Amino acid sequence: MSVLDRFLRYVQIDTQSDERSTSYPSTQTQLVLLRALVDELRGIGLADAAIDEHGYVTATIPATTAKANAPVIGFIAHVDTSPEMSGAGVKPIVHRRWDGRDIVLPDAPDAVLRKTEIPALLEQVGHDIVTASGSTLLGADNKAGVAEIVTAAEYLIAHPEIPHGAVRIAFTPDEEIGRGTQYFDVAAFGAMCAYTMDGGLRGEVEIESFSADAMTVTFHGFNTHPGYAKGRMVNAIKVAAAFIDSLPQHTLSPETTEGMEGFVHPYVVDASVEKTSVRLLIRDFETEGLAEKERMLEALAQKAVARHPGSRVECAVEESYRNMKQVLATRPEIAEHAYEAVRRAGLEVRRRSIRGGTDGSRLSFMGLPTPNVFAGEHNFHSRLEWVSVQDMEKAVEVIVNLARVWEERS
Ligand SMILES: [Zn+2]
Repeated sequence: MSVLDRFLRYVQIDTQSDERSTSYPSTQTQLVLLRALVDELRGIGLADAAIDEHGYVTATIPATTAKANAPVIGFIAHVDTSPEMSGAGVKPIVHRRWDGRDIVLPDAPDAVLRKTEIPALLEQVGHDIVTASGSTLLGADNKAGVAEIVTAAEYLIAHPEIPHGAVRIAFTPDEEIGRGTQYFDVAAFGAMCAYTMDGGLRGEVEIESFSADAMTVTFHGFNTHPGYAKGRMVNAIKVAAAFIDSLPQHTLSPETTEGMEGFVHPYVVDASVEKTSVRLLIRDFETEGLAEKERMLEALAQKAVARHPGSRVECAVEESYRNMKQVLATRPEIAEHAYEAVRRAGLEVRRRSIRGGTDGSRLSFMGLPTPNVFAGEHNFHSRLEWVSVQDMEKAVEVIVNLARVWEERS
């Protein structure tokens, strides 16, 4: 079966995750696709395909090599789609041999893909582009990756003459709500490294992500009846407002940074006169850069307090995740083999740094070094999400090449 046929089948199953849910996986609908994947993997000859009590699906493509030291490598994709946009009733449309004209989505005439606005589309003229119909996301993030991994597995099983070590596969739930690795059993997975197939541009390999902390700055004031408050009330809301107003205006914010720049980002305020807390995201590619930003925030908070006698402040920092480069730099062959696999597919390697975290950043620190490789998905979490069939086919080739390269160089 082609990677496109698989992809079209998967995207029609609603697998939206839900951050308000306390169950795991967060939604039962994800299990529908996860269970179907177990059947499909068994059907193509992966005899050990199974689903565990958390919903993780794993399977093994048995080794074909005579080399005893060929390492076990893994491929991972997530089945859930973003809570930010409906994933129910997805109607995928294949725009065959796209001629470069605007793609208007039938269910939302205002939703238009234009190559003048989407640079990645420029290199897709003549390719087959898949979109949704305008009322939902497509779910290429990350069902493109799922379809590619299953298709590569089918290919490797059908071609036992290709020498490779054992290849492990995992399909996970709840990546979009940051819980994709919560119960992932790295030891049981048993791979030396893995690749998430969850990137965008053809040829892309990502070995670097943000390092991330969350900070809570809590201002304490003093509340009393406002009619009789003269000289006594200290309004924590005003102290917090002074603090927020003192944050850098033209630098260090999500709306003023790109590339390798970090930022601080207030995103929730819980306010009352007695006590107001500000939650901030801290992001930097260097972990020392996080500490620097945290010291700056603490100093600004103290300044705001100094302007409001009687108030005080507490700052608390929690670690969110760390740049996976810290781990991957110690094992350069993991990225090198991915670059080689991309080149053998006839593509140019594009190295990019992720301005966010991935399941791979967490897995890398859990003992499974995991860079991210392109799957072809674009405009994530949007009605304008799209993927190119030719890019998906190239990603399948890259997976097969990776299995070969690891065997050759072992
Ligand atoms: Zn994704």
